[in-house]
Amino acid sequence: MEIEEIRLYRVELPVADKAKSAYSMSGSTVATPNSVVVEVVCDDGTVGYGEACMATPQAQSAQDGTVRAALAMLAPAILGLDPLRLGQVRAAMDATVDGQQEAKAVLDVACWDLAGKILDQPVVDLLGGRRMDDVTTYHVVGIGTPEEAAATADRLQAEGLSRLQLKAGGRPVHEDVAAIHAVADVLRPGTDLAVDTNRGWSTGEAIAVSEACAGIPMSMEQPCATEQELRAVKGHLRHPLVVDESASDLPTIARMVSSGLADGFGLKISRLGGLTPMRAVRDLCMAARVPMSADDAWGGDVIGAACVALGATLTPRFSRGAWLSHPYHQVHYDEANGPRIVNGYVTLPDGGPGLGLQIPDGHFGEPEATYRR
Ligand SMILES: [Mg+2]
Repeated sequence: MEIEEIRLYRVELPVADKAKSAYSMSGSTVATPNSVVVEVVCDDGTVGYGEACMATPQAQSAQDGTVRAALAMLAPAILGLDPLRLGQVRAAMDATVDGQQEAKAVLDVACWDLAGKILDQPVVDLLGGRRMDDVTTYHVVGIGTPEEAAATADRLQAEGLSRLQLKAGGRPVHEDVAAIHAVADVLRPGTDLAVDTNRGWSTGEAIAVSEACAGIPMSMEQPCATEQELRAVKGHLRHPLVVDESASDLPTIARMVSSGLADGFGLKISRLGGLTPMRAVRDLCMAARVPMSADDAWGGDVIGAACVALGATLTPRFSRGAWLSHPYHQVHYDEANGPRIVNGYVTLPDGGPGLGLQIPDGHFGEPEATYRR
């Protein structure tokens, strides 16, 4: 089996009006992200899908335009390769462009989808098999007033969500502290709370917030910008430290695990370079009993299905959930099987082998670029 053609599409996933301002982080607010979707076509006509959608230009180092530019170099480099030989695909991409993991992730996920379709197996089984039928997920409570944050947290718990991520940072810390306390006041037994600052606090602010919230059961996700800052605050925090943006690759994550810096991880398939590196990170985290999530920055059914497939293979005790952006944009590529949250959980797509999606031919319109052998 050989890769014959790769088609690149631009798909808009604007935040629905009623959800506007709902996804505000310390440095940016998500409004109208464009998703990069690829169809990787084999010589027998089998099509695999990959996707990456950068939430905002500030949320990660890659941007919509850099992903597209990198794909223009990477796609021709994997034409003619066997998608089942993921190591060869990776080597060809690494020999063509350094870094650019988000673009490599798009093609890697498409090859996993292809592998599943060629072998007539769901991707979740190729990844080792599911450890849970319905995958835990979590929902974001954006930056707002204490009253708004508490009302949203209360509503989400009533809808069945048992993991909440409260955004913080980018404003005076006493406002963050007030919002954290307001949400803590409405927390139900069994609800897990993470306060995610997306790199938004200084070291002093992070320590001050942890002290002011010492009695609240919560974790602190990426409170400061760099690994060095996280190491500086670690011993002063009263809460478990979860690393997201600084967890950039396997060697970094291994160092953070072995040194005891990270009590958990927020991990994104696109930042790490696809399901192949995510699988290795998963094995490390599960062996070390360090909780992790299986997320991406934003995106539609394709990357959502990849997140849920990996998320289903996590040891339930050490799963921080798989996140979907679908509640914010309400767009499905596969109306019947696209992953969605029901009663706080996500069911794996059931549309066949691979990622389990059945996307109609021509669904994405005209490709903005096509690469052929
Ligand atoms: Mg995060």
